[in-house]
Amino acid sequence: MSAEPDGPEGRLRRFATIWSRAVYPVTSTADTRSEFEERLLPVARLLSEALRARAFDAEAGRAAGAALVEAHCTDPEALSRTLDCVDAYLVLYCGGDGDRETLRARSARLQHAMAAGFAQALRRRTLAEQEAVAKAALEAQGVVAQALHATETRFRAVFEGAAIGIGIADLEGNILQVNGALGRMFGLSGQNLLGRNVRDWTHPDDAPQTWRLYEELVSGEREHYHLEKAFYRPDGTVLWTNLTVSLLRDADGEPQYQLALMEDTTERRLLNLRLRYEATHDALTGLPNRTFFFERLEKALAAGPGQRFGLCYLDLDGFKTVNDSLGHAAGDRLLVEVADRLQSCATAPGEMVARLGGDEFVALTTGPDTRRTVDELAGRIMNALLAPISVDGRELTVRGSIGIVEGPAGERSAAEVLRSADITMYRAKAAGGNRFELADPEADARAITRHGLTTALPTALDRGEFFIEYQPLVHLGDGSVRGAEALVRWLHPQHGVLSPDRFIPLAEHTGLIVPLGRWVLEQSVRQAREWRDANGGDVLGPLRINVNLSPCQLTHPGLVQDTVEILERTGVTPDALCLEVTESALIGADDDLLKPLRRLAEMGVDIALDDFGTGYSNLANLRRLPVSVLKLDRSFTQSMQQFPADPVDLKIVEGIVSLAHSLDLAVTVEGVETGAQAEQLRILGCDTAQGWYYARPGPPERLHELALVDATG
Ligand code: C2E
Ligand code: MG
Ligand code: MG
Repeated sequence: MSAEPDGPEGRLRRFATIWSRAVYPVTSTADTRSEFEERLLPVARLLSEALRARAFDAEAGRAAGAALVEAHCTDPEALSRTLDCVDAYLVLYCGGDGDRETLRARSARLQHAMAAGFAQALRRRTLAEQEAVAKAALEAQGVVAQALHATETRFRAVFEGAAIGIGIADLEGNILQVNGALGRMFGLSGQNLLGRNVRDWTHPDDAPQTWRLYEELVSGEREHYHLEKAFYRPDGTVLWTNLTVSLLRDADGEPQYQLALMEDTTERRLLNLRLRYEATHDALTGLPNRTFFFERLEKALAAGPGQRFGLCYLDLDGFKTVNDSLGHAAGDRLLVEVADRLQSCATAPGEMVARLGGDEFVALTTGPDTRRTVDELAGRIMNALLAPISVDGRELTVRGSIGIVEGPAGERSAAEVLRSADITMYRAKAAGGNRFELADPEADARAITRHGLTTALPTALDRGEFFIEYQPLVHLGDGSVRGAEALVRWLHPQHGVLSPDRFIPLAEHTGLIVPLGRWVLEQSVRQAREWRDANGGDVLGPLRINVNLSPCQLTHPGLVQDTVEILERTGVTPDALCLEVTESALIGADDDLLKPLRRLAEMGVDIALDDFGTGYSNLANLRRLPVSVLKLDRSFTQSMQQFPADPVDLKIVEGIVSLAHSLDLAVTVEGVETGAQAEQLRILGCDTAQGWYYARPGPPERLHELALVDATG
């Protein structure tokens, strides 16, 4: 254990010192201050460990709260100071190099757990004390019967000296005796309580069973009961107590008196209320916070049939810029003003506004007709943000993006609803911000599966969940099948067949594209070999295979070697392979990046520029690229769908084709869906075509059939 002042142990010790200094003055202990600090040290260590533990466990906080009671820190002020101290110093001294946000959130949860543990321990202690007094009273009861003077004296001593209030009444409720503590609780001298009747002490906050229990006790059906009860003091203020009432019987066992033991819990209750307020409200804006909002949302979602909920999830546009340029203090003032305006938007019953954190707010509306009210609510919020907000003499324009979720209660969990709102809000932001969007379950599902897909990708390759479809490439001059493009698909165990647009970007992002791409290359080159073998002689001419390459594969050092090995292993000549690279992947490519492609091209592999026309279409650039095929993007073909085709488009395609040919590049067109398009493209001079008009992507056998049909038919 390092005791260096800057080591973890030294810092823990500092925390314990600060803490003991804060609470020692309000603790009734016989310890010296430094003994007291030693007592707090293990509790501090408990908190410190809980703060940094891998999984959060609130039990440590509760144990720390109980330990406080054990160390005689029973004054509410001691708890209050403890929580302040934990709040201010625990993360600072015991947080290590963990993430501050996470540590802060944990520290807050630890504080709540401590308060709960404290209250529980205190209550247990009080009950034990009450039991002891009740025992003495029962003994004293014997006294009445046997007139044993000594015992009665002992009872008197306990009665008068007890810290808790004790009162005795007859079975009609007339108060016969009270001790000093009880009088002090009511702010009266004991005498003023005598002769009053217990039944007069009703209070609007009385629990429903309060008076039933009372009747059962005085009629002898019950020996004691225990509850929390409020009393009005003569000055009108309220006294909260933990009340235990026991029945005292005479020597023959007949009910005779009732004995009430009460503990004043008023201050603790206030402290709890304050803690509850702090735990459920945002310190900066005073709005309900995330915790509170979740409670309300959960309640709304649990409401009975016919009830609905509507939720607006607001995130300010460009708030970070305000923070960065004007400073956090200005950012805070802006948030306070926004909070005020939002609050004025949601004043109807069943409506609430909360701050979830940062510049994220949420407004909730509940009731039978939220389909209408939630739209109005979103409209009011957008309106409320219209007027500029003045901060430090500057007029700031505030805009926000809102995601709206609306629906019937009882279908979704609070977390699901909030996630959907969050996704929808991002959609509003992506669409330019300053608007609201309505949640769309399909868009949600896409965003949610995105995450799931990313995590499932790595094992999918090992499990053989990918497969390849082939789409024929047809010669426009004679209509013969010249080859096929390999298009990968993922047969996902839950989602069915997924198209490459769904998972290739994820594979690129995670790097899985390299092994996946290698697999596709190997499979499709093998397939090309099978076609050739099945062909027997050379009836069909060699069928070529086109394989797509992602930008990440281009920069991967193994590209050339992998390709060469695959070709050699399968015995396929390089000129039967065409690698498709998108134009955007090659924009601004320097010679280093082009080197592998150039090496492959030198070996005889064709390189095609895929989706040409969607990027910068820098024709001048074409000359320095090692490409031999231009694949015109589907958008060109689409513009030829109507008849007559747009003459400008035709001219453009014609220009590209003639330029490509002059550079010795072959031209392929994608997305041919009609015979008219095919004819038009043939006239314009394109060499090969691909599209649904000829065939959709399909299994490899299909391609062979197609090829045979047009060779023989
Ligand atoms: P791409 O290389 O431009 O592939 C052509 C896409 O157009 C394919 O979509 C194909 O199914 C579709 N298509 C073909 N004919 C028609 C038609 O007549 N009309 C219409 N509307 N569409 C047609 P798919 O299979 O969804 O592939 C999408 C993209 O995914 C491909 O675009 C390619 O960039 C990428 N991709 C596919 N397989 C692989 C692969 O193995 N590796 C890499 N890196 N990317 C791949
Ligand atoms: Mg392609
Ligand atoms: Mg393409």
